[in-house]
Amino acid sequence: MIKPPKTVTAIVKSVSEKLGREAIFRKVNNREEYFILDLAFSYFQKADRNKRNDYRSGYLYLVHKREKRLLFALAHTPIMTTFFKNNFDYETFRSIITNTAQYRDEHYLRYKKMGVQDEKFRTPDLKVFLNKLDELEISGFTKSVFAKSKSGKTGVGNVFGICLASGCNEEEIVKAIEKSWDLFLWLYPTRPIFKRNASLNRSLQSIDRKCEIARIKNLPKSILKKSCSGQVQGAHIIPHKQGGSDKLQNGVWLCSAHHRLTEGKLNGTRGIDKFEVKYGR
Ligand SMILES: [Zn+2]
Repeated sequence: MIKPPKTVTAIVKSVSEKLGREAIFRKVNNREEYFILDLAFSYFQKADRNKRNDYRSGYLYLVHKREKRLLFALAHTPIMTTFFKNNFDYETFRSIITNTAQYRDEHYLRYKKMGVQDEKFRTPDLKVFLNKLDELEISGFTKSVFAKSKSGKTGVGNVFGICLASGCNEEEIVKAIEKSWDLFLWLYPTRPIFKRNASLNRSLQSIDRKCEIARIKNLPKSILKKSCSGQVQGAHIIPHKQGGSDKLQNGVWLCSAHHRLTEGKLNGTRGIDKFEVKYGR
């Protein structure tokens, strides 16, 4: 059993809490590099016909010489790369880069250009970095960064890494994870009810990210006695497909269990200091 650095233990704990289930770390052979991932990813791996035994998707903590970095990375993981590409939202990605900029002294992106050539881009200047990302977005970010390899298979031999934090203490690293959590959620096949989550989550940013189920009026006992589980996510009061907006007035934070139980059954409105949401249509 490898004893990981303290920071890795802190990342595993933080990711487990956000997932509501066990996260694990996997050390890369002969390197001070640790992938922190969902234990459930091992099932994707079993379903992979290529039987890769080193699934590498998620947070990556690496110690290189004296430098310590937290990255979000995808490497040689075609199934997850496909999910990530489908869920990817450029505006959300760009705001994650801006919102985590304070945790690093250098911005860094690595990817395979046209699925073949290894590209690295690093700069201490956030503006220059964002310009580079915008430039890639012109042809579609995922199309530029996750181009098909010569063999024609998306994500085979793919490498993607984005630096989120460097030279930080554990507390700052946990904050960088909190602020970049959408990236991790993009590794999953999303259900339709979560599809518009990213923009609603942004609208709810001024509200403390905790399950607000207890504030909702007229809840049936069956829901009240169900305890919170899963990650806390933005939930629409009026669902988007029924014309509900992604604005603050139409959102509450709910854990995934309470989200599922109340989806399409809420009514009312909310603001920063106002909360008039009830169960029942
Ligand atoms: Zn809850």
